[in-house]
Amino acid sequence: QEDLFKNVVSHAKEYGFIFPSSEIYDGLSAVYDYAQNGVELKKNIRDYWWKSMVQMHENIVGLDAAILMHPTTWKASGHVDAFNDPLIDNKDSKKRYRADVLIEDYAEKLNIKAQKEIEKARVRFGDAFNEQEFISTNPRVVEYLSKKNEILARMAKSLDAGDLDDVKLLIEELEIACPDSGSKNWTEVRQFNLMFGTKLGASADSAMDLYLRPETAQGIFVNFLNVQKTGRMKIPFGIAQTGKAFRNEIVARQFIFRMREFEQMEMQFFVKPGEEMKWYEYWKTTRLNWHKSLGLGAENYRFHDHEKLAHYANAAADIEFNFPFGFKELEGIHSRTDFDLKAHEQFSGKKLQYFDTEENKNYVPYVVETSVGLDRMFLAVFSKALQEETLEDGSTRTVLRLPSVLAPTKAAILPLVKKDGLPEIAKEIMEDLKWDFNVAYDEKDAVGRRYRRQDALGTPFCITVDHQTIEDKTVTIRHRDSMQQERVAIADLKNIIENEVSV
Ligand code: ATP
Repeated sequence: QEDLFKNVVSHAKEYGFIFPSSEIYDGLSAVYDYAQNGVELKKNIRDYWWKSMVQMHENIVGLDAAILMHPTTWKASGHVDAFNDPLIDNKDSKKRYRADVLIEDYAEKLNIKAQKEIEKARVRFGDAFNEQEFISTNPRVVEYLSKKNEILARMAKSLDAGDLDDVKLLIEELEIACPDSGSKNWTEVRQFNLMFGTKLGASADSAMDLYLRPETAQGIFVNFLNVQKTGRMKIPFGIAQTGKAFRNEIVARQFIFRMREFEQMEMQFFVKPGEEMKWYEYWKTTRLNWHKSLGLGAENYRFHDHEKLAHYANAAADIEFNFPFGFKELEGIHSRTDFDLKAHEQFSGKKLQYFDTEENKNYVPYVVETSVGLDRMFLAVFSKALQEETLEDGSTRTVLRLPSVLAPTKAAILPLVKKDGLPEIAKEIMEDLKWDFNVAYDEKDAVGRRYRRQDALGTPFCITVDHQTIEDKTVTIRHRDSMQQERVAIADLKNIIENEVSV
């Protein structure tokens, strides 16, 4: 698993998908640049999302709100007061940790111990093994699991109550209970706000403190009535947006999974109060199906329903994906009630209500949101697509089995040799196809090596021009996944590619 993840990172660099930001200055932690192929893949994911959300739903429209917003926005949304991570420093190692992550790691250790007992018993009892009964009766498993739940419950309670002393105490107790971890010298737990601050205006006394937005959603809430009125939208309706968000993440690890500057694709769906659960279920199902439609394997997705809810939500679930480092959140679906619109009404003094002509009354709508990280989607798609294959002749190839609709380049056009007029024909084909698809031309190296290079870039088709092309206007087209080649007329290329890469 770890090797797989290393491969993902190095493949992304070597093949021009993702570079560390400002690399010549040794990079900037948890900030990345999308390179020539990465930018295409990212754009295609964004377009695929946009098409399914906006183009395919007549009651969903788009928006592109500014990153900088009036600072009161973040008071109303709760981000100034409640968008915090609890931090703790270790005085000996001089390392900084998220206190909740540290505690969750302990809980996970207990969980692993319980799972090991369960697996041992499964082997011992064979067919007669009753897992449920074993979990509820085996004293060791009962102890591990109840301890795990106890730790997590106590952490949640202390964090909710803002009792940071107890969070520290819990960490110290866990260290003592866990002999291999060794006693460490900890500081107090402090709350650390994740928003990046900046200033608007030049002169020291008139400058205004602003934040870079930590989520795109608030740009939608403050524009809710503008869009509803000018678009004559009827509830239920949605507003969709993609754009950058910024969080000063402390535990910034795992490549583009957790970045300080990242992109979100969010949709807020405004509904009649009381109907939010129906729509919450609808969007959960719809979004899961959207992910599955990419063909990366249905077994790689699962829901995680939240028990502990954010202050604004009455129901929440994550769609988790099986990343190279395990199942982790890819998308959140939240029933946000009327929390945000009501808060903005209160802080702005402006009404944010909808007049329902059927009910003949005004109300503040409820909101169901779907929120997916574009970079996390990129990592999900890229890491599952990257495969090492052993071929029939024993040799191996690296192939990026990207869904064709997302592939950066749809076809590469390759003259078999660099003479006899073949490059000219290949370029003519490229000139013709480039109106419809992103295509590439490559004449360097033997054709076999060029095929492998396109495999590693995820290009679904290679089109090879050879001497027969001069005679009968046909080419060979090679399919990335099957490596099958067939002879087809140049005139048919557009249709063949279209059939494969269109949604
Ligand atoms: P996490 O628990 O992983 O920090 P979150 O619950 O804070 O995520 P949300 O605030 O619900 O995340 O944001 C919605 C989506 O935005 C997430 O599902 C994720 O895909 C993406 N996202 C959030 N934070 C980051 C980040 N630092 N880097 C990349 N993507 C992110």
